[in-house]
Amino acid sequence: MTVFSAYSDEEILEYLTSQVKDGTVETDMATLKKQSFNSNASGGESGLARAFVEVESVADIQGVLRTARKFHLPVIPQTTATSTVVGSDGQPGALILSTRQMNRILEIDKEDSVAVVQPGVINGDLDQAARKRGLFYAPDPGSKPISSIGGNVSTNAGGMSTVRYGATKDNVLGLKAVLADGREIKLGGRTLKQAFGYDLTQLFVGSEGTLGIITEITVKLMPIPLGQTVMGVAFFSNMGSLAKAVTAIRMSGVYPTMLEALDGNTVVALDKFEHTHYASNSGAMLIFKLEGSSPESMAVVKDLLAKYDGQNVQVTDDEQEQTDLEQLRRDMLPAVFAGQNHLMRSQTISRFNLGKPACII
Ligand SMILES: Cc1cc2nc3c(=O)[nH]c(=O)nc-3n(C[C@H](O)[C@H](O)[C@H](O)COP(=O)(O)OP(=O)(O)OC[C@H]3O[C@@H](n4cnc5c(N)ncnc54)[C@H](O)[C@@H]3O)c2cc1C
Repeated sequence: MTVFSAYSDEEILEYLTSQVKDGTVETDMATLKKQSFNSNASGGESGLARAFVEVESVADIQGVLRTARKFHLPVIPQTTATSTVVGSDGQPGALILSTRQMNRILEIDKEDSVAVVQPGVINGDLDQAARKRGLFYAPDPGSKPISSIGGNVSTNAGGMSTVRYGATKDNVLGLKAVLADGREIKLGGRTLKQAFGYDLTQLFVGSEGTLGIITEITVKLMPIPLGQTVMGVAFFSNMGSLAKAVTAIRMSGVYPTMLEALDGNTVVALDKFEHTHYASNSGAMLIFKLEGSSPESMAVVKDLLAKYDGQNVQVTDDEQEQTDLEQLRRDMLPAVFAGQNHLMRSQTISRFNLGKPACII
């Protein structure tokens, strides 16, 4: 996009700087390049921004938007810039408005089971803070340790536990956002039932920064389930039989927390990245997790995996092995991108032991 302006760069930046009282305005080339071209998916769609503004307050956001209106400049909202689809990359002459410094957890209310956060709070940090109070934040994209709640809301991030707890949209109760004209609006609330009026909160979820700048989010928290958590893997000759097993497990009443299907190409990419040998098992891999599991529910899963030709089924209740398995799934996207860029992970993780149990079925 070409930006024509009757004003010089200096005039624009002087005005912008005067409007951002709490945050910072950066214009050095290294920062602009880093923040404009951070997506793995960049293929010519991204462009060099004019300024990278790290806002610290609603007033800063309003100041950036005032500047954009005055000089007719595009604004790109950004938080932790993990977007895999150029969503937070720069555009020529644009102002990148980063909310990553607005990163305070404002409230965790155990009785109401809600948290109120600023957009820059990292998903994993919110989850850990909630767990200290006996609750947890359910949405867990592979980017959980590095991506923000603001970005997760704007992209409606899903994740490993979506099969049980839904995607981000199912866990957002309310929002505050600043519109292009500078007005701050409040949408939704903190109750599960909000049955009147248009659901504008949900309109914002997944809107990729096109409707306004999200400044505050109220999310649902869940009580940590009682009982044993088990995770496992099973291998299938193809995605078709894996899908049949997944459908059967979902319909069985067992309610798994994770049913992650990795096709053959992804498993090959992961093997290269992690120095593992999962692909030698077969053409598709299922990673599953059951919270609050019982011998009966495990027996159901075991029977269904066997019925649909699941091979080399391994289950563990060991916490470290479960963390490793989750990490394997988190590494899926980096492994695929690394394959495209001919990179390799420098360190290997301690590996789920395919040979020896912790196996309880
Ligand atoms: C390793 C890895 C694994 C991933 N795994 C998954 C997965 O399992 N499931 C899944 O669904 N996704 C996954 N993703 C994608 C991930 O969910 C998104 O990258 C993440 O939600 C974006 O968060 P962010 O804070 O980095 O946002 P950014 O990348 O900074 O921004 C993303 C979008 O949100 C907008 N935005 C950012 N902040 C605001 C704001 N305050 N107000 C309004 N708009 C804003 C931006 O303009 C942009 O359009 C993965 C990404 C990576 C890198």
